[in-house]
Amino acid sequence: MTYNFSTKCIYGNNDATSCDKSGAISFPIYQTATFAHPGVGNSTGYDYSRLQNPTREQLEKVVCSLENGYDALAFSSGMAALTALMELFSPGDHIISGNDLYGGSIRLFNNINNKNLLKFDFIDTSKEDIEKYITPSTKAIYVETPTNPMMNVTDISKVAAIAKKYNILFIVDNTFLSPYFQNPIDLGADIVVHSGTKFLGGHNDTLAGFIVVNNEELSEKLRFILKTVGSGLAPFDSWLILRGIKTLAIRMERQQQNAIAIAQWLKANSKVKNVYYPGLPDHPGYEISKNQSRGFGSMLTFEVENSEIALHILSSVKLIQFAESLGGVETLITYPMTQTHADVPKDVREKNGITDNILRLSIGIEDVNDLINDLSQAL
Ligand SMILES: *Cc1c(COP(=O)(O)O)cnc(C)c1O
Repeated sequence: MTYNFSTKCIYGNNDATSCDKSGAISFPIYQTATFAHPGVGNSTGYDYSRLQNPTREQLEKVVCSLENGYDALAFSSGMAALTALMELFSPGDHIISGNDLYGGSIRLFNNINNKNLLKFDFIDTSKEDIEKYITPSTKAIYVETPTNPMMNVTDISKVAAIAKKYNILFIVDNTFLSPYFQNPIDLGADIVVHSGTKFLGGHNDTLAGFIVVNNEELSEKLRFILKTVGSGLAPFDSWLILRGIKTLAIRMERQQQNAIAIAQWLKANSKVKNVYYPGLPDHPGYEISKNQSRGFGSMLTFEVENSEIALHILSSVKLIQFAESLGGVETLITYPMTQTHADVPKDVREKNGITDNILRLSIGIEDVNDLINDLSQAL
C-alpha cells in the first residue's frame, strides 16, 4: 500500500490495523535489550536491540516511506548517523562537499574523517562547477540544500546527473526542508540524511538521526555498520520521534506560513540589511526551489547593520528564545558566529558571509503576530 504524505506521517505505508495485536493505537515502546528465541536456530526476527528493536523498526518504516527510500536507519543523533555514514569510505577516498554546512558536519569531516585519511574539497555546490573537482579517488558528493545558515540552494537533479556520470554516491542532508517539502531520492540522490532532532521530532525534546538509502546494497552495508558501531536510536526516543512525525505535515505548513510573514516583515524593516529566505522571489535560489521542492521551509537568516544591533536583539527577545537547534514548534534565534559555526575555520566562515552581523531564525508555530511584536520591540 502507498499512502499520501499526511497519512504516511501516522502509519507509514502500513495498514493502520497491522501495528500491534493488542490494538494499541500508539505504537508500543519495546523497552527491552534482548529477545527470547523460540528454539535453536529460530528467531522472532529480533535478537538484540543494538541490531533492531520493534519501536525503532516502526520509526524507520515511517521515515523510509516519507523519503520514498528503499530503507531507513535510525541513529541516536544526526551526528551519529553521519559518523556511521562516513564508515562507507576508506583511507584515500575523496569527497566533494558543500562549503556552507552545519558546523558539526564540518567538524566531523575535518577532525575525525580527515584523521582517518578521507580527503575533502569544500565548494559552493550552488554555483561552482563540481566536475572540475572530480578525481579518480572521488567517491561521493555531499550537499545540504538549502544550506545552513546562508540558505544557498543547490540544484539536486543537476548534481545527481554528475554523480551518475562518474558513478559516485550523491548524499543530501535534507534536514532543513524535511521530507514534507523535499525528497532528494526522487530527484536522483542515493542517500538522504536527517537530523531527526529538528523537524521530524519537532518538539525540541529528543535527539535522533536518519540515513535513508535508495538500494539494497547500501542498506546492507549500513545495517552492518549500525549493528557494529552500536549507535542506533533507543526505543523510547524512537517512540518520541514517531509521535513527533504524526504532526509533521501540519507543523511544516504553519511554520512556513509564519516564516513567509516574518521574512516579508524583516525585509521591510530599515534596520535589517539582508534577508536570506529562499521563498522571497529575489532570493537567488527561488526558481530552483520552486522546481525541486514543495515549499521553502521555515529557516531564515538575516543581516543587521553591525554586531551591536545583533547582540542587542539576542538580549532583548522575550518570546523568541536564544538557543541552538531548529525545526521545533518553538521559535529559536541563533548567532551562528559563536554557536553552530564556532568550529568552522574563520576564512571559510567569512567567505560564506557568516559574519557577526547575521542571525538565524527557526520559526515555530506560535501566533505570528506575537513573534513579529517580539522582533519589533527587540529591533
Ligand atoms: C543539527 C544538524 C545536524 C546534526 O544533528 P544532531 O541531531 O544535532 O546530531 C546535521 N545536519 C544539519 C543540517 C543539522 O541542522
